[in-house]
Formats: sequence, C-alpha cells, structure tokens
Amino acid sequence: MNENQPALAKLKARLADYSALKDSRKVLSWDESTNMPPAGATARGRQMAVLDRMAHELLAHERTAELLSLCEQELAERSADDVDVQLLSLVRRERDRAVRVPPAFFEELGNHAAQTFRAWQEARPRDDFAAVGSLLQRSVELSREYSSFFPDAEHPADPHIAISDTGFNVASLRPLFAALRDELVPLVEAAVAGPRVSTSFLRQHFDHDEQLAVGLELAKRFGYDLRRGRLDLAAHPFATSFSVDDVRITTRVNEGDLLDCLGSVLHETGHALYELGVAPALEGTPLRHGASSGVHESQSRLWENLVGNSRAYWQWLTPVLQQNFQQLAGATVDQLYREANRVERSLIRTESDELTYNLHVIVRFELELELLEGSLSVADLPEAWRQLYADYLGIAPGNDRDGVMQDVHWYAGMVGGAFQGYTIGNVLSVQFFEAAERDLGPQGDNFLAGSFDQLHEWLQRNLYRYGKRYQPLELIELVTGGPLAVGPYIDYLRRKYSELYGF
Ligand code: ZN
Repeated sequence: MNENQPALAKLKARLADYSALKDSRKVLSWDESTNMPPAGATARGRQMAVLDRMAHELLAHERTAELLSLCEQELAERSADDVDVQLLSLVRRERDRAVRVPPAFFEELGNHAAQTFRAWQEARPRDDFAAVGSLLQRSVELSREYSSFFPDAEHPADPHIAISDTGFNVASLRPLFAALRDELVPLVEAAVAGPRVSTSFLRQHFDHDEQLAVGLELAKRFGYDLRRGRLDLAAHPFATSFSVDDVRITTRVNEGDLLDCLGSVLHETGHALYELGVAPALEGTPLRHGASSGVHESQSRLWENLVGNSRAYWQWLTPVLQQNFQQLAGATVDQLYREANRVERSLIRTESDELTYNLHVIVRFELELELLEGSLSVADLPEAWRQLYADYLGIAPGNDRDGVMQDVHWYAGMVGGAFQGYTIGNVLSVQFFEAAERDLGPQGDNFLAGSFDQLHEWLQRNLYRYGKRYQPLELIELVTGGPLAVGPYIDYLRRKYSELYGF
C-alpha cells in the first residue's frame, strides 16, 4: 500500500476487503439454502465460520482502529450529512460492538448454535420439546451473557435489538407494541365474526413451473431487473445481495395454494428492490445495505401488502392470472381480492394474514423479554405460549411443534432481537406508502394499469439510494417527516378490513 495515501483511502481499502469477505460468506449461505446437497453441511459450516472470523479480525484489528481515529480527526469539520462521515460513524458503531464481545464467546455460541439447530430439526417433527429444553435454557443464558458485554443497556434485550434495529429498545417498543396489540385484538375479532370467505379459487391445483414463471413476470413488472438478479427455490424464501448488481430472491411453490409462491415472490422482490436501489457509489462499503431489519421489512411488506394485496392491483392481476391459469376462468376480481385478504385465527406466523400477523410477532416479543428478564422459565414457556395465543389470537396449539418450536429463531443460538423488525416493518410500510402518495397522488390508477414505476422511482429517490447512510430513526424522519407511529397503520387496517368484512 502506498504510504502517502490519505488515511481515508487506506481505511476504505480495508473496508472493501471486509465487505468482500461478508459478501462471499453470503454467496456460500445462498448456495447452502438453494443448491447444496445435504451432506455438504459440515464442510460449509466450517467454510462460513472461517470467513466470519476473517471479517471479524479485519474489523477488530488495531490498524483499523488507528485509521478510523485518524479519519475521524481529518473529517471533524465536515457535516453530519457527508457520506464519508456517515461511513465512519457506521464503522465506529459496528467496530465498538464487535470488540466488546470476546472471541471465545462467539466460538462457544457458534458450537452451541449448531448443536441446538440440529436438535430442533429432529425434535420438532416429533413434537419433543423436552429434547431441546435444556439447550434453549443455555441459549437464554448465552443471550444474557451477550447483554452483559453492554453494561449501559437498560434491558437485557436492548443489545440484541440494537444488532438489527439500531435506535430502538424495549422502552420505546413495549408501549408501541402494546398499543398495537390492544387495537388489533378487537379488529381480528370483528373480522372473524364477519362472513366466511371461501378459498375455492386460489387453493386449487396450480402447475409448479407455471407458478414460477408468473411469479417472475410479476417481479419484473415491479421493477426487478434480471440482469442484476435471479429467482431460485428455497424451503424458507429469502432475498440476499452480493453487490449492488447481484441481488437474488428465492421462493417456494405449493401446488395447492397459488399465493404461497406469488406472495413470497412479491415479498422478496420488495427486499431486492431496496438493495438494488442503493446508490452504486456505496458499493464496497458497509453502507451498501438497507438501513435496518425493520426498514427492510417495510419494503417487502409495502410491495407484498400495500401494492400486492390492494383492490386496484387485483383488478389488474385477475385477467393476467386468468390468461395463465384456466382454473380461474370463472372468478371475479372481488372473489379473488377477498380470498387473498381472508382473515383467520391461525397458529403459524409465516402463513398468517396481514391483520393477524403482528399478533404472532407480539407473542414472541413479549415472551422473549420475559425469558431474558428471568421472569419466565424455559420449562413454563410452552404453557405461556398457549396462554398468549389464546388471549391475543383466540386459538392455541395442541402441541409444541406448532407452538414454541415453530420458528427457527430461538434455536439458532440466541434469544432476543429477532422478531421486532417484522412489526416495525409493517407499521412503517404504511407510513412510507402514505408519504409516497402525498408526493405523487393516489397510486390506485397506476396499479389498475399494471404500472408500478412511479412508486418504485419515488422509493428509489427518497429511500433506497441512501442505503445505511442514515440510522433508522433519522431515516424515518427524513422520509415521512415524523417518527414511527402506529396510528396510520391501524387506520389503514381498519379502513381496509371494515370494508371487506362489513363491520
Ligand atoms: Zn422479509
């Protein structure tokens, strides 16, 4: 390296290496979930662990700290909106977090996570919570130990929340989620008391390849560019990005339920449009990603729900689907729109509808807090789960497979911080969509015509291009003119579902 180079150029070169290691790790992870034969798992785990360790060492390295301090002095006079200042601030936060936790902790956590995940994979089909109980207990202990490395945290869940939703904490989220829950419970009751909606059109047999082809057409229609992306199959759909020009999506196909595939494609396309929309100048830096888990989820949910579950969209989509699937020939727009937006009390979060979804999340959020506080024991967790489901959703699982063992999150090493982003995202999706409509006017006529470019361009200009330059709370303020608020979200749900269910 040239000794005369300014510190900033040297730091950026290190960060480009750091980003390349992280992105390479994601390629391995994408392959693991899409193409890898099962027997490759052990070697793949080792390969990813090496890249994790190298990335961590590069960030934690003394030389990175020296360069960072030098750059902070050099740039001290620049404004907080300067992209290099924003880069330093992000790297400073990430590095501080990384070096607080001793490497031995991550080593133990990695081994524990692998063991717990395997045990969960075997125990869940057998409905055998006893087989994972003591491992989950260890996960809670490790999660509390992780929190102890951040002695300033008010609540043991705060350091976990900060990993994916910087700026939020238990003190800010608990009242927000409680207010949301208190509004949602009666709304769900009113909807399920309304007329029963059939599923006779969308739950017929639909050809596997045909579903994928239509899904891909819809993604392209939203603006997903296949020169910079691709669609693959995965058991649990996700989106991932290796560079600003390589952002991939996955879906799954259920031949008995058309919306399983199409809904997943729309959701993951929303994530992908965000990553594809980050300014190319941020490539090779840690700024090249969505702002947070919650802001990311706001984009998947905006495209999946605000667009993809709207009446205007279904008015455009119905004849498109009828051209591809003759079994829908007799359906009206109204029938399909109602089927797509059917509300029901159900047990499985990932299959739940827009209205009940956040109650599934809030159950998990509240239980996590109690586990980390120590006010709930792992032994009492299955019963506490059933109780909250009964209270909030009016339905409770008769087993633990569809109860406390339902999601992988608690069996992936630590407990805490994994769920709040889903609900933050739902709430934000409406605030961002309404901000767009305030600028652009109502989008219904565009959707009717199958035209989504105006909305996509607005999001690109006002949100996507910033990547991680702003912290979530600043970004929300910048885009919507105010803080995160549940009011607009509740109003949207009440408007939509009272019209659908006549209450
Ligand atoms: Zn998502």
